[in-house]
Amino acid sequence: MEQTETIAPPAEVDLLPEELNEEILRLKKELNAVILAHYYQESEIQDLADFIGDSLELSRKAAQTDADVIVFAGVHFMAETAKILSPDKTVLLPDLEAGCSLADSAPADLFRQYRLDHPDHLSLTYINCTAEVKALSDIIVTSSSAERILRELPEDIPVLFAPDRNLGRYLQRVTGRDMLLWQGTCLVHEQFSERKIFALRSEHPEAKLIAHPECEEVILDQADFIGSTSALLKFTQTDPSPAFIVATEPGIIHQMEKASPGKLFIPAPPDSTCACNECPYMKLNTREKLYLCMRDRKPEITMDESLRLRALAPLQRMLDLTSNSSTDTRSLLKEIRLPFTG
Ligand code: SF4
Repeated sequence: MEQTETIAPPAEVDLLPEELNEEILRLKKELNAVILAHYYQESEIQDLADFIGDSLELSRKAAQTDADVIVFAGVHFMAETAKILSPDKTVLLPDLEAGCSLADSAPADLFRQYRLDHPDHLSLTYINCTAEVKALSDIIVTSSSAERILRELPEDIPVLFAPDRNLGRYLQRVTGRDMLLWQGTCLVHEQFSERKIFALRSEHPEAKLIAHPECEEVILDQADFIGSTSALLKFTQTDPSPAFIVATEPGIIHQMEKASPGKLFIPAPPDSTCACNECPYMKLNTREKLYLCMRDRKPEITMDESLRLRALAPLQRMLDLTSNSSTDTRSLLKEIRLPFTG
C-alpha cells in the first residue's frame, strides 16, 4: 500500500481539553468529515465520534454518508477497509503506527506462498488483515459473519482460514468443519489469564464470563457467551445478569456501561501484572492526534486502484453472502478461481 505520510504527527497541542473538543467538532464541519471510533478506542474519542462500532460496520456506515473525509480512530487495516469501500473519500488515520499484531502475523508474501502450497483450498480470511492479504483471499469474514459463511460453503471444498488461529479453532469446533489454520494471534486476546479469571469468578459468582472468539480455547471453554464485540455488547443489554467479566479489549466497557448503567463490568485480566488488557495499537490514537490529523489532513490512507479492486472482490462476496437477498452460494463460488495460482 502507498502512504502519503510515514511519520506520525507530534501529539503536543497547546489547547485546553474543552478547546480541543471544540476544535475537533469545528474541523469536522469544515472538512465535511465523519469521525469513526472503534469500540476499543479511549472513551474520550468514542464520545466525539459520529459512529462507534466494529471495523466493517464503521466502514459501511461511513460509505453511506455524503462526507468528503473519513477520520478513522482505529487501526491501519480498518482505515484501509474504509478506503476500499469509499475510494472517493479522503481517509485519515490519527497515527499511522496504529497497526495490529494479527494483521502483522500474515505478511502478504508468506500468505501468497501458503496459498500456493495449498492451491485447492478456498481462502476464508478474517477482516483483520492488510489490503494485500485481502486481495489474495477468496472470501473475507468478520467474527459476526464467519460461522454463517463457513456453514454455507459446500462440504467438498477444502478451506484455509487466516490469520487468527483461535477464531479458526472456535469455528472448527462450532461447525465441525476441518480447516487449515494460519497460526496468527491477537496479542490482546491471547493473553487472558485462566487462573485470574477463575479467581474473579469465585469473587463474583453472580458475574457471567463473556469472551471474544479470538481468545484462547481455555478461556472460551469457560465462557458463558462467545461473540463479536458488537454481539458481546448486545448480550450485556439483553441478559439479566447484574455483572459480567469481559474477555476482550476493555475499551468496549465504556459502551456497555452507558447502555446498562446499573450493571457491573469487570475487565478480564491478562497474565501480566496489569489489571486489564488494552490494545497498545488502538491506544496510540489520542484526542490530540485526532485533532492534528484533521487540522493537517494527514496521515492519509491512499491505495493503488488495482489493489483496491482486488481487495474489494472478496469483501463484496461476504457482503453478498450476508445480505438479506438470497445469494446463491454455488454461483458466487464460480467466480473464485481454484486452484490458486497467485
Ligand atoms: S485488539 Fe488485537 S486484533 Fe484488535 S487491533 Fe489490537 S492487536 Fe489487532
